[in-house]
Amino acid sequence: MQLPATSLSKVRDTFLPYCLPLIGEEEIWEVVDTLRSGWLTSGPKVKRFEEEFARYLDVKHAIAVSSCTAALQVSLAALGIGPGDEVIVPTLTFCATGNVVAQLGATPVVVDVDSNFQISLEAIERAVTLRTRALIPVHYAGQVCNLDEILGLASKHGIAVVEDAAHAVGCEYNGKKIGARTQAAAFSFYAIKNMTTGEGGMITTNDGELADRMRVLSLHGMSHDAWKRYTVAGSWYYEVVALGFKYNMTDVQAAIGIHQLRRLNGFIARRQEIAAAYDQAFSGMPELLIPPRLPNRNHVFHLYPIRLQTARLRLDRAQFIEELRRRNIGASVHFIPLHRHPLYRDRFGCRPELFPVGEHIYQGLLSLPLYPKMTRQDVADVVAAVQEIVADNRITAAR
Ligand SMILES: *Cc1c(COP(=O)(O)O)cnc(C)c1O
Repeated sequence: MQLPATSLSKVRDTFLPYCLPLIGEEEIWEVVDTLRSGWLTSGPKVKRFEEEFARYLDVKHAIAVSSCTAALQVSLAALGIGPGDEVIVPTLTFCATGNVVAQLGATPVVVDVDSNFQISLEAIERAVTLRTRALIPVHYAGQVCNLDEILGLASKHGIAVVEDAAHAVGCEYNGKKIGARTQAAAFSFYAIKNMTTGEGGMITTNDGELADRMRVLSLHGMSHDAWKRYTVAGSWYYEVVALGFKYNMTDVQAAIGIHQLRRLNGFIARRQEIAAAYDQAFSGMPELLIPPRLPNRNHVFHLYPIRLQTARLRLDRAQFIEELRRRNIGASVHFIPLHRHPLYRDRFGCRPELFPVGEHIYQGLLSLPLYPKMTRQDVADVVAAVQEIVADNRITAAR
């Protein structure tokens, strides 16, 4: 299809990526200090990062790992989930949420979302079987899921809740930070998440026994307490007590994380400011829907996902993204739903007709640039580009 002719009056000089990290001098100095110290892998800085992260969330245990994917997998493994078990996940998420379930030999049961991007509570009810062991809600875009309702459902059916909090560090629900009410929460410090360690993740839990199992499983299944228990010898002694993974975080990563955590509240405030500017600019436009804001939460806006009302526009989502790119503005899509991927279709029986809401959302879904490094001019450029593309392509009422 031919792209419609557009005015292109608002082209930036430089390309604005849809996301970029913001690294300060403190992070750089801390990494250099780590390299000079000679202690590169998990050591004193990982310990400090874990302690400061736990204090920030007001949770008892924080276990640093190599990614959020690793955090999810270790959490499920520590809950004893494996072959024969089912774990419910929403379709509107990154593939990691479902893949980790399958990696453990369990079955990901993918369910639809509601029109607020949240895992559908009715779909969960329909999906629960005697084999269901856990549920992984996603705090999509940085807004907390319907946590009270989900905890209610989980306790009613006797299943565990592992939060996919990849977007959601610092998110609050009823005035309390998330990550302390469920069996486990998994956070991501991937390069473009709300705070970063390059690659990295964290598991939080208030359950001491579960935390011990998570620590052991995240490093080869080695029990470091064995020497204490048996007093056989000094610190060289360990026992392999479970089939664990090699998912530990390094001190180089933690060096970055310690300072990113200190900046986090500032990052969140800036993200919220940009989101408010977008809301104000776009809320009057019938051609698109701005992201929903649910009550009793602070939205940390990892993403700003808009939904194009394609019936009101002469271009589709792919063409809209192309028009943004022509104006030197990046955009992305979060996410291609799980049910659309061949793995989930062919192996886990996900047919598109089982996901009417997710399928409908996906058609017009795109994420605009939103990150603390953006200047006021960057934000104004995005607003102007979106407004121009919509103005050039709106389908007006019959003349
Ligand atoms: C990024 C992301 C993950 C995976 O995070 P990694 O740290 O890259 O493993 C998991 N779930 C969601 C929803 C994500 O966006």
